[in-house]
Amino acid sequence: MKYCSTRGGVKGVPFRQALFSGYALDGGLFVPEIVPKLSPDTISEWVKAKLSYPKIVYEIVRRFVSEEELPNDALAKCIENAYNTGKFDTLSVVGMKNCNTRRTEEGFTVAELFHGQTQSFKDYALSLVGQLMQYFLNKHNEKLIVLVGTSGDTGSAAIKSVEGLEGIDIIVLYPDGKISAVQELQMTSSLAKNVHVFAVEGTSDDLDVPIRQCFPGEGICSINSINWARIMIQIAHFVYLYIHEGGEALDIFLPTGAAGNLVSGVICNLMGFPIKFFPATNENDNVHAFLNKGQLRLGGTIISTPANAMDIRYPYNLERLIYLLSNSPELTAKYMTICESDSENVADIEKSLLDKIKTIVPECQLVETKHIHETIQWVWKTQKYMICPHTATAFYHLDKSGKLTKNKAVVVSTASPQKFSDVVSAAGISSAEWKGDELWTKLKAGPQVEPNRSMKMQNQSDWLKILQEEISKIRSTH
Ligand SMILES: *Cc1c(COP(=O)(O)O)cnc(C)c1O
Repeated sequence: MKYCSTRGGVKGVPFRQALFSGYALDGGLFVPEIVPKLSPDTISEWVKAKLSYPKIVYEIVRRFVSEEELPNDALAKCIENAYNTGKFDTLSVVGMKNCNTRRTEEGFTVAELFHGQTQSFKDYALSLVGQLMQYFLNKHNEKLIVLVGTSGDTGSAAIKSVEGLEGIDIIVLYPDGKISAVQELQMTSSLAKNVHVFAVEGTSDDLDVPIRQCFPGEGICSINSINWARIMIQIAHFVYLYIHEGGEALDIFLPTGAAGNLVSGVICNLMGFPIKFFPATNENDNVHAFLNKGQLRLGGTIISTPANAMDIRYPYNLERLIYLLSNSPELTAKYMTICESDSENVADIEKSLLDKIKTIVPECQLVETKHIHETIQWVWKTQKYMICPHTATAFYHLDKSGKLTKNKAVVVSTASPQKFSDVVSAAGISSAEWKGDELWTKLKAGPQVEPNRSMKMQNQSDWLKILQEEISKIRSTH
């Protein structure tokens, strides 16, 4: 299996290179040259065998990375380290829970993808990405600096995935004052020497600017969802849902920000799984305008919402979606060039392409902040089940749309509500009522905790210069 750029300028790239790169040299994103299809027989065997989550990850990765690059035993070892060493708090890795909608009282499954070390779904892919990076670095005796900008959850999950690993340092930039208390403490309490954290006086889009300026850079790589490896590994949790819901066609309701998880889902569909996706966004509406109206716009002013990990105006994975469903690097490059030059520009997507997207992603729902609060309230009141603000957008979507198709519905829960007890309080439910401070108390009491270990990047200072100085400092120790 080799990789190419969504814009057609780069071909024949091995997995290793896609793993360690951010953007391709032509500005595009890496995608597999072909999406491997699974036969109906293989799929029904997997359903019959009820494959475990780690086994599914193995089977999926095996189809996207050749044995030549990553032998079977090495892959198995990476997966073992990522998922079987106590890093997830349930044996099944994914949690499954039954809930009801307000409208029909009809049951559906909530897939809790927050049982990893930092309680968001980012842990699922990143814990393996760290292991894969370590494997390839060791093999070639190389060193690496991982550079991450985060709007909330990616930073802590990325830190946990490489904390203490040999040959890798990580630099994380987060928007000061715009993330929850738990999210911040999870990032600033790491004592590992290879972890470097900056609190930036700006938005998550602002801090992407100096980060982008560091690319392409020798021995520097990104771990945001522009990274192909994350997209690939995330395919596994949708396969898990298909298998453990009994091998029936599914409608999956998905909290969506940069659309990385959505693209993993679309690839899962293209591989042969009969799953449709119903993304939900917050008030940052670029994904919504694209999926429902075929209008592509990238950038604009970020609106702060309680679902902060989705406060994104640059959903870069839409580029992969366009490429995968048009099979046209020319068309992808055309739309991206229109939008990249100015955040005011809108590219109108061809109707035939939009129709094709809709066969897999029939409807997106934009969820206002007041509905996020209100959804958290009704789910708690009616079922004594607490959900995070991101998950609330998907609940709202399912509830609002009723039954769109006859398929079984699954709502993906992308983070633990314990990370967002401030939002739950704002929705009018006190922490005492649902023990909403358990995670916070545990983190504060942890033996390793040393809060405020972050450095500041102030409004008026030169962020790029600070970043470059940190990079040279790290290099001098390598
Ligand atoms: C990252 C994140 C999302 C959005 O996922 P994308 O792949 O960027 O669409 C949703 N919810 C939570 C809790 C997240 O951390």
